Amino acid sequence: MMHDPWLEAHAYLRPVAGLSAEVNRAAAGIEGLVAPIPDWEDYRSDYLAGVPLLSSAAAAVDLEPGGRMVEALVSRLASATSSDAEWLAAETSALATELRREPQVSRRIAEFLLGDETIILPSPGLLRYLAWTAVARYLRPVTKAFGEWRDEEKWLRRYCPTCGSLPAMAQLVGADPGRKRLLSCGCCGTRWQFKRTGCPFCETDAQRLSSVTIEEEPGLRIDHCESCSGYLKTYDGEGNEHLLLSDWSSLHLDLIAHDRGLKRLAGSLFEFEPARQPNGGEVS
Ligand SMILES: [Zn+2]
Ligand SMILES: [Zn+2]
Repeated sequence: MMHDPWLEAHAYLRPVAGLSAEVNRAAAGIEGLVAPIPDWEDYRSDYLAGVPLLSSAAAAVDLEPGGRMVEALVSRLASATSSDAEWLAAETSALATELRREPQVSRRIAEFLLGDETIILPSPGLLRYLAWTAVARYLRPVTKAFGEWRDEEKWLRRYCPTCGSLPAMAQLVGADPGRKRLLSCGCCGTRWQFKRTGCPFCETDAQRLSSVTIEEEPGLRIDHCESCSGYLKTYDGEGNEHLLLSDWSSLHLDLIAHDRGLKRLAGSLFEFEPARQPNGGEVS
């Protein structure tokens, strides 16, 4: 179990921190396949037209080997004997059994991750989380090279340039006048530039953003849109991206936002289910 000042101060995050650490440990132990770097010139016109890298036929990044890494990760978690979370071993062994029955499963996991809604796979919430953990590793050399190649000013879109997901969080970097806002993908881990003001969830021009700062959390704030009520948790700092952009490390901000009537429109691998009010209108 990790000992981090953040977790000392937020004891209620320890179960999810433990889960994340265990899955990362297992992912580090499987055979790492490596996605080949695409020819950027083949992809350039799709990039300029707003086609995410993984959806581009011209870039032709094959996610299928990443799908095989997902199968290996699920099997490894299923056979873990000393698990911090017993339910994880039980859930993953049920999932591993079901995946073995699926035809062409590595290919279909890849298509499932890219949003093909015709692909129905077992335990989709858990699978999506585990699958992105493995596939983000498979893609790491590509996402790194992509970050070096792409001209951020020519994207500035609300969805991830690599995988097309909506952002999970945002980050403010640098100092004025050159201060920038990056959006952060909760799936593949890409960070990309977006306009400083403006809402990534609605594209009306008249949108206004407001901020909620939380006294005890100087590095984090909640930016929300007055036209669609969507909010984005924002890390106002640099150097601790690994923890503070992980989404799970700030689940308490989602609770605060929910209490203020804001809507989570951001993408998330963590199925966020705020506690239901006894007389609330929401039914799960
Ligand atoms: Zn992404
Ligand atoms: Zn909005």
